Amino acid sequence: MKDAVVIGAGIAGMQAALDLADQGIKVHLIEKYPSIGGRMSQLDKTFPTLDCSSCILTPKMVDCSRHENISLYTYSEVDNISGEKGNFTITIKQKPRYVNSDTCTGCGICVQKCPYKAPNNFDENMGKRKVIYFEFPQAIPLVPVIDAPNCQYFKNGKCKACQKNCPVEGCIDFEQKETMIEINAGTIIYATGFDLYDPKNDYGYNEYEDVVTSLEFERLMSSTGPNNGHLKRPSNGKDPKKIGIILCVGSRSQLENENWYCSRFCCMAAIKQAIIIKDHYPETDVSIYYMDIRAFGKGFQEFYNRAIEEYGINFIKGRVGKVTNSAGTDGSLLTLRYEDIKNSRIMEEERDLVILAVGIEPREEQLISDLKILDDGFIAPEDVYLDSVNTSIPGILVCGTAEGPKDIPDSVVQASAAAIRAANILRGKN
Ligand SMILES: Cc1cc2nc3c(=O)[nH]c(=O)nc-3n(C[C@H](O)[C@H](O)[C@H](O)COP(=O)(O)OP(=O)(O)OC[C@H]3O[C@@H](n4cnc5c(N)ncnc54)[C@H](O)[C@@H]3O)c2cc1C
Repeated sequence: MKDAVVIGAGIAGMQAALDLADQGIKVHLIEKYPSIGGRMSQLDKTFPTLDCSSCILTPKMVDCSRHENISLYTYSEVDNISGEKGNFTITIKQKPRYVNSDTCTGCGICVQKCPYKAPNNFDENMGKRKVIYFEFPQAIPLVPVIDAPNCQYFKNGKCKACQKNCPVEGCIDFEQKETMIEINAGTIIYATGFDLYDPKNDYGYNEYEDVVTSLEFERLMSSTGPNNGHLKRPSNGKDPKKIGIILCVGSRSQLENENWYCSRFCCMAAIKQAIIIKDHYPETDVSIYYMDIRAFGKGFQEFYNRAIEEYGINFIKGRVGKVTNSAGTDGSLLTLRYEDIKNSRIMEEERDLVILAVGIEPREEQLISDLKILDDGFIAPEDVYLDSVNTSIPGILVCGTAEGPKDIPDSVVQASAAAIRAANILRGKN
């Protein structure tokens, strides 16, 4: 039987790979970042149970790395796909880590001894990490990467602190080069996930430090984040007392450069974030500004009710027009001007931290240009009612947020469906 290729090792790609591998099918799982895990690895807790995201994700990551039928290609991107159903050739470009994955023990001495730092993109650039780094503490594989553009050795040949201190001879290898790998497979599953809407200057983002996106907030609250899980105002490091969460930023909008569709998980993610704030800091005043609350999944309505009844979170039906900071100095309060629909009036309210619940967008690169996409830009399924995993190209399947906005449970279900279809293709039954 031919092998399967899964592109993208977020929760959807990992689930599809595991389901195929458990059926005895060889899977090549390709991930462009140094570690598998996807967006879920950046989350603090998950709705509606408030489970720790890493506690659910890490065992799956470990299963993928240990499964005898799964080959992982991290820090790798697909360069070319040719062929057809039953016989695809996938060319992968693997970037150099400058660390030998076969001999590295993951001891982290190189990271400790590196004297230089660079912005931490895993923390949405809010903190700094070393120039040789693990993507995050539970990264798989636990092999560091040298950030070549920021490395002094690559700039001027002057620093080799990582190499000098590495206990394994030859493990740090500045001569490593990009490698091309060719795989033959009978089917391909796209699980390439999503991008976040960039709010640019909406609501004072990029202008006022205390306006952050929902993903930045996840990192701020995470114990592995830039503040070790202590919520601080980015402007002055003080505890925020009044927090506003604005829903549908970039979503359900007719404005140019914004998206008309609903991103589906932001309402629940915002409620989750409000509850986490109240759990950690019960005295904080938290308001959510919304158009509608879409609590459609299992346990979601109960979660929403708890937010109101148990935690006393304020839900204000109305669209925020703008966020300003008249004092214009760090640490001063932000003013939200909004339409209070229930009371038919325009209101202003001061907040010291504003979280923008940004929507999601399709990945820019679709890898195969003639793959049909829908008018929201996500990969089109064969049939929105009866077949959400086959695409317009026979033998190529899709799952998770690559197909459209969805939360973790829905991504996992669709991934398992894609794995069944992929197995059928490989067995000549489809
Ligand atoms: C702020 C925020 C909070 C959230 N909170 C929750 C929550 O509490 N509960 C919940 O259920 N959902 C939550 N979600 C939604 C959740 O993150 C998604 O449902 C989930 O991550 C989707 O998984 P995925 O595998 O489809 O995509 P992703 O997690 O995006 O994974 C896709 C993977 O593919 C890789 N990739 C992309 N392109 C390529 C390529 N060309 N080659 C190789 N690899 C590639 C990416 O690097 C990534 O690792 C939240 C989302 C956000 C933004």
